[in-house]
Amino acid sequence: MIREKKFLLDSMLGSLVTWLRILGYDTEYWKGEDRKMVEVAKKDCRIILTKDREVVRFAERNGIPVLDLTSLEIPEALATIAETFGISLEFDGRKTRCPLCNTSLRSSDSRWFCEECGKEYWIGSHWADISRKLSEAKRILLERKGGQP
Ligand SMILES: [Zn+2]
Repeated sequence: MIREKKFLLDSMLGSLVTWLRILGYDTEYWKGEDRKMVEVAKKDCRIILTKDREVVRFAERNGIPVLDLTSLEIPEALATIAETFGISLEFDGRKTRCPLCNTSLRSSDSRWFCEECGKEYWIGSHWADISRKLSEAKRILLERKGGQP
């Protein structure tokens, strides 16, 4: 029960990593050299998300799926990724990953545990904000597809 698409993000897209992990997508940061980033993406079959034009050009030349994210607003960015690569904007508690370390979480009684870093998560006060941003992303996506919000 894992989400199919995997991502590699440059470090300028910090909080987006968290969001993709919450949605259940295997997502890693890249902090090294541009060319190496493209090599790693190729080897791991990852989609590159970046704000770096050089990386975009180099990825395209190497046939790596890449998205040049111009907006850093989370709902906008998530809608663009969903539009381009068809990711789901629905939270699925069976697929969600640790925002800190990208490990698939184990769930029981509306709580989630990370066996890698020992963190525990539950639906708390921050959930309203997460839920609102996901709804906003879905609304943007629907509008772009020409539907009514
Ligand atoms: Zn963890």
